[in-house]
Amino acid sequence: MAETRWQPDRSAPARRWPMPPLGTTLARGLACRCPSCGKAPVFDGYLTVVPACANCGAPLGAARADDAPPYFTILIVGHIVVALMLVVQRAYDPSNLVLSAIFVPLTIVLSLLLLRPIKGATVGLMLHFNMVKPEDELPPPAPAAPVAAATVVRAGGGLPPR
Ligand SMILES: [Zn+2]
Repeated sequence: MAETRWQPDRSAPARRWPMPPLGTTLARGLACRCPSCGKAPVFDGYLTVVPACANCGAPLGAARADDAPPYFTILIVGHIVVALMLVVQRAYDPSNLVLSAIFVPLTIVLSLLLLRPIKGATVGLMLHFNMVKPEDELPPPAPAAPVAAATVVRAGGGLPPR
């Protein structure tokens, strides 16, 4: 009799939402639309990712981008701003005050404009490669009100009467 050894299940779990090619997911994410179907928005507000797509049900909130979008934003904005600063410095040699007046607002505006599409694309990237938290590992919804029974302080102070 042939010896059989236990093998772990290495098959990828089946997705319950559509998954287009990588370029499409990135483009839809950059447009701040659902990377999976492209029909519903990724964000509820400026940067809050919706828990799931309203159209196809893709678990967008389970793709925790964390600090990857700010990292990519700093990388891109830094390369634009520093290169422009060097060119302007070389060409016009302006004072530090003029340089600051141009490039500090430019840095802020570029960062705020790019952060949202970059976060959308990051969520699309994570969804494409199935880098999502399993549903049973997601934190439970916050309780409505804290239970205060254990910390009730009696008005008169001291121990309760026996
Ligand atoms: Zn969708």
